[in-house]
Amino acid sequence: MKRIQGWGNTKTNYLVPEAAQQYLSKTVGYPLKLVNASQEFLLRKVPPSKLHPYPGILIDPEIRLRHARGQSLGDWIDMGDGSVDTFPDGVIFPSNEKEIRKLLQYAQANEINLIPYGGGTSVVGHLTPPGEGPPTLSVDLSRMNQLIEINKENLEATFEAGVSGPQLEDHLKKHGFVLGHFPQSWEYSTLGGWIVTRSVGQQSYHYGRIEPLFVTGHLETPLGSLEFPHVPKSAAGPDLRHILLGSEARLGILTRATMRIRRLPEEERFYAAFFPNFKIGAKALREIAQAELRLSMLRLSDPMETETTFQLSGEEKLVNYAKRGLSLFGQGENRCMLIYGLTGNHAANKLADRQLAHLVRKHQGMMIKFYLGEAWIEKRFLTPYLRNTLWDLGYALDTLETALPWQKIQIGRQSILSELHNGLARDGEKVLAFSHISHVYTNGASLYITYLYRRAQDPDQTLDRWKRLKGAASRAIIALGGTITHQHGVGLDHQPYLATEKGPLGTRIIENIIKDMDPKQVMNRGKLVTSGE
Ligand SMILES: Cc1cc2nc3c(=O)[nH]c(=O)nc-3n(C[C@H](O)[C@H](O)[C@H](O)COP(=O)(O)OP(=O)(O)OC[C@H]3O[C@@H](n4cnc5c(N)ncnc54)[C@H](O)[C@@H]3O)c2cc1C
Repeated sequence: MKRIQGWGNTKTNYLVPEAAQQYLSKTVGYPLKLVNASQEFLLRKVPPSKLHPYPGILIDPEIRLRHARGQSLGDWIDMGDGSVDTFPDGVIFPSNEKEIRKLLQYAQANEINLIPYGGGTSVVGHLTPPGEGPPTLSVDLSRMNQLIEINKENLEATFEAGVSGPQLEDHLKKHGFVLGHFPQSWEYSTLGGWIVTRSVGQQSYHYGRIEPLFVTGHLETPLGSLEFPHVPKSAAGPDLRHILLGSEARLGILTRATMRIRRLPEEERFYAAFFPNFKIGAKALREIAQAELRLSMLRLSDPMETETTFQLSGEEKLVNYAKRGLSLFGQGENRCMLIYGLTGNHAANKLADRQLAHLVRKHQGMMIKFYLGEAWIEKRFLTPYLRNTLWDLGYALDTLETALPWQKIQIGRQSILSELHNGLARDGEKVLAFSHISHVYTNGASLYITYLYRRAQDPDQTLDRWKRLKGAASRAIIALGGTITHQHGVGLDHQPYLATEKGPLGTRIIENIIKDMDPKQVMNRGKLVTSGE
């Protein structure tokens, strides 16, 4: 059963060992003992539905509560502390395109705001029903989870858009193929969600972001059905798929998508390396990216993330032993851990590993071929559960991300982290903040920041602290000329910064496309851009 408050299923937990709890208390202060709002309390907040009866619409409070929010920290505070105050008026589970077509007609005839619901893993407020205006209907796509066709000759597979990460890879694995899109939310996020938010998987270095994997698809729009051309490549004017990618449900509901697939790799391995500090590590990463080594993943943690990973591992003895060993080889207090992946055939992996080892050594690094890489891959989809444990202990945790050119990675990291570290100084509160580089390009990299602070007794204060931290970090990103989001999308939380990134004309183009394609504003109004609010 999926949790209503927090991440994931109710059976899976991520334990934080006593020593790690002490580390957190020392770093940000002793947490307050807080209890979550009860589910009975949350259910009592769900108001009567404003929707008129329509076949298949469910209006019971629990199903509406379950679709009321995503996974942003604001969403967590709303659900955990009980401040949630907007709910969809109903939820429907369509089974096919025809039902979706009818739903769009119904929504236009009755002025209803539709919010497609994939896996509910949005971290930027994509799923929040507006407080005012017409009724909102959540369109849960989980019944549309089938593999429609595999074309082995062209290495393509067509799926219904509600298919989740594990369902999709299970379908493909039976036939010997893989898509290879593994965002950390993979357990729940869906193909449709990935495409309309332009998501990025952990092994994007090998498989690519979602954009190059997306070949074609079918969109049900308020104006009718839109089938994108199905060709290997085209120069026939602007690529219409690019108005869908990142459209965040403002243009319609994606019902199916054809994706580029690959044969299952002969082997896959994950290993670690250490660098003496972040500056050296980032330089090595740049050289690796520019040498175009055939790796599948690169993730360089900064010193604080490296230390926190050690502390949270629960392997106290092993960690102390490892730290002593690393120090002896020049990887002292500022050590940065790199996790890298090799995916492909044995000979190519061996070659890439050798080339990598050469570059690591050139940058005073040290390769670690046992335990760390395997531990990372084993826990990669378990890590989001850590947020539940931390929340229950009394800590609020959030992440944010950007992409910057290589020459701004150092200064960018320092500036964003400094905003976060000092962001709650006036409350006398400390913030633990750290970062990693996880997607590298020849001309730059993404920077992914995690920050943690103490929840306050008053949920409004927890929310206010989050807004101040997120605002300060976002303004720092804008000042650096970075993107406001490398992978999470815009939703509500990044909307204030979109115009700075796109410019006035760019924003107008996006708004006009939405106005034109959705004249009655029935699609996820108010998200991405304000038009339709
Ligand atoms: C723990 C955690 C880890 C994450 N890690 C990553 C990561 O590594 N990389 C990354 O890119 N993101 C990550 N995310 C963010 C999130 O998982 C992505 O944005 C993901 O693409 C959302 O997919 P979803 O199916 O859950 O969509 P939802 O959250 O359900 O919806 C997101 C938006 O897409 C719309 N939508 C969904 N399906 C459709 C459809 N078929 N047609 C039209 N609109 C649709 C919704 O209306 C909404 O506007 C993470 C989130 C969490 C909570």
